[in-house]
Amino acid sequence: MPVLTEDSPLTKLVNKTEAEQLARNKGLVSVADLFEFVPRRYVRPGQLTDLSSLHVGEDVLVVAEVQKATTRPMRNRRGKMLTVVIGDDLGNELDVTFFSAYGHEAKLTPGVRGFFVGQVGAYGRRLQLTHPEYELLDEDRGDAAVEWYRTHRVPVYSTTGKLNSLKMRRLVHQALDSVDRIREPVPEHIRVARGLLDRSSALELVHRPAVDEQPGRGLERLKYDEAFVLQTILAQRRKAAESELATPRPPRPGGLLAAFDARLPFELTAGQREVGEVLTAELASDRPMHRLLQGEVGSGKTVVALRAMLAAIDAGGQAALLAPTEVLAAQHHRSITAMLGDLAQGGMLGGAEFGTKVALLTGSQNAAARRRSLLDAASGEAGIVVGTHALIQKHVQFADLALVVVDEQHRFGVEQRDALREKGIRPPHVLVMTATPIPRTVAMTVFGDMETSTLRELPRGRSPITTHVVDANRPGWVDRTWARVAEEVAAGHQAYVVCPRIGDVDDEGGAGSRDTTDEDAGWDADWDGSDTDDADGPQGPAGELTGVYSMLSTLRATPPLEGVRIEVLHGRLDPDAKDATMRAFAAGEIDVLVATTVIEVGVDVPNASVMVVVDADRFGISQLHQLRGRVGRGAVPGLCLLMTSDPGERAMERLGQVAATTDGFELARADLLLRREGDVLGARQSGRGNSVRHLRLGREEDEQIIADARADAFALVDGDPGLRAHPALAAAVAMRLDDEQAAWLERG
Ligand code: ADP
Ligand code: MG
Repeated sequence: MPVLTEDSPLTKLVNKTEAEQLARNKGLVSVADLFEFVPRRYVRPGQLTDLSSLHVGEDVLVVAEVQKATTRPMRNRRGKMLTVVIGDDLGNELDVTFFSAYGHEAKLTPGVRGFFVGQVGAYGRRLQLTHPEYELLDEDRGDAAVEWYRTHRVPVYSTTGKLNSLKMRRLVHQALDSVDRIREPVPEHIRVARGLLDRSSALELVHRPAVDEQPGRGLERLKYDEAFVLQTILAQRRKAAESELATPRPPRPGGLLAAFDARLPFELTAGQREVGEVLTAELASDRPMHRLLQGEVGSGKTVVALRAMLAAIDAGGQAALLAPTEVLAAQHHRSITAMLGDLAQGGMLGGAEFGTKVALLTGSQNAAARRRSLLDAASGEAGIVVGTHALIQKHVQFADLALVVVDEQHRFGVEQRDALREKGIRPPHVLVMTATPIPRTVAMTVFGDMETSTLRELPRGRSPITTHVVDANRPGWVDRTWARVAEEVAAGHQAYVVCPRIGDVDDEGGAGSRDTTDEDAGWDADWDGSDTDDADGPQGPAGELTGVYSMLSTLRATPPLEGVRIEVLHGRLDPDAKDATMRAFAAGEIDVLVATTVIEVGVDVPNASVMVVVDADRFGISQLHQLRGRVGRGAVPGLCLLMTSDPGERAMERLGQVAATTDGFELARADLLLRREGDVLGARQSGRGNSVRHLRLGREEDEQIIADARADAFALVDGDPGLRAHPALAAAVAMRLDDEQAAWLERG
């Protein structure tokens, strides 16, 4: 057998076709990959050789002897069917059936012994295995092999192409036997302190456990390794950031911030004050701040960020606020300008003496407005520049960029953030805000190189939101929904009606019209971080979904809504129209806004009291939670009606979860459980590399492993940032980064 290393390609073990299948379907390229390919489950043979103990539905591995083999032609098809009777030492029998005898007939002859893996079924009163995987035991090694199966749990692998589970198992075993020394990325002292198996024993345990051993212990080690390597990368990133120097931006008594605080119409919550102090201290330091601020929708993150921006301006710098959509950027611009009042009229007659200027910069502004904003940013006249990704572009210059605030982080990639950071002379301080509550496992992994703060309480005076699921198949319920909207409007409040797509302007019914799903969905047209197939987004064929325009005509023809002012908002409108509509809605000049998810994040109209989500089953849990955060923002209690015509169990369960709780953390967890792990770490969501293999981020069960690995990795990197004393760890880190790089390139 050739001596292999973990870096050896699998072509050393299998033929070219098989190697291609392994690479394409399973992502397995090297021997090291194969080691990480853990079995889906294990079969315990000890209890299974007695054929009389089998039950229908059980996954079994049976060691038995062929007693009889018969073939007969099939009634409806060409070819022959093969039925083999196998028996154990006690005289019990089991049928084994192949619908095509070809290839099996010659091997499964009476007297031959082998083992058979499959699920027990029944045919008439007899138990049987249909098309089991099997392997025959030849004369010489027969007994030894039988002995092996008696004494080991048999790993069952997921299969691909011609590589069935048995072949996969042999392949893994062969690899284990051919590699001399298994790399040990975890330093001995950590391994011992954590009571972890050495890697070689762990792999043995995972792939070749004896009957009385627990493969789970081996898997723990693989999980730890995965967490440890990830955390080492994060620790190195953190370390590198710490060695960067930022310009300190110390607070200035009697400056803009003080003036702003003095005219704040409400009292800050304790959480807002606390986070504020942390930010002030970090801004004053010569280490670049790199902080994630999470807080429920409506918890008041924007005020916290604005105060930090004012502190930056007080220290002579500028701040950039990066929003994911034009609607949101415009709203931030509007609300910040309003909150600042005369403080935002720097350089203008009647402005406060030390006021500043708030500029807006988006991709689709007209040339004159854009030029003015660019100039204000470059000259330093604008203390705050609010914008979309247009802010990131090369030609945008700042006089002295001190602080970058990124709103709704989960929509921005790490590259975009980096591009913005590069606009400072020295790296600016960075504050990232997200309203999607992030479970600790994900926070530690995906955002593990950032410090985090959380706003846990909502400002006082917030009203509760009640959520109901409305069955759209029952006309009475739908009528009641619109009547309810009419009541709110009559009481002087406003409503949102959210639809999953735009539809055509002259769309009456929806069916057969061209696909007009809101590709923008709040994105600028030239934004290339295409997000339309986000796991969160509306799914399914667009033709079946209710469009904004068909909803508009439905509502206009609904009697209780007669005379109600209804308008539409979606990503395809030109920016001025979007802005004008949003302004009119905020000013109470529109009663009902029929919109796509452009209103998902951050839109703030306290007088809006009810939201109807049409085809609610097409939205993800977190997205629905975000959406309904648009109501109940003022003194009026919020009502959210999730309308669905899909009575399916899964849809109902999801909508029921959203209706049952307004605890964003609980919902985020529920959402994670419903997604594939890959989506959690996927670049689209997080801007960071690859998914995890062994860790379960959606479940909190691996939280301790991640926390341990994090503490260990950070301590190690602190003493040895370059990993000079730990070449095996350095190699594992390099390999992981390569994988991420490759995954990035593939994604394009
Ligand atoms: P988030 O961005 O966290 O969703 P916002 O910052 O948009 O929340 O705040 C939502 C609303 O609450 C805004 O109208 C804001 O002015 C208001 N607000 C913020 N902090 C407080 C507070 N401490 N007391 C009362 N209202 C507040
Ligand atoms: Mg916000």
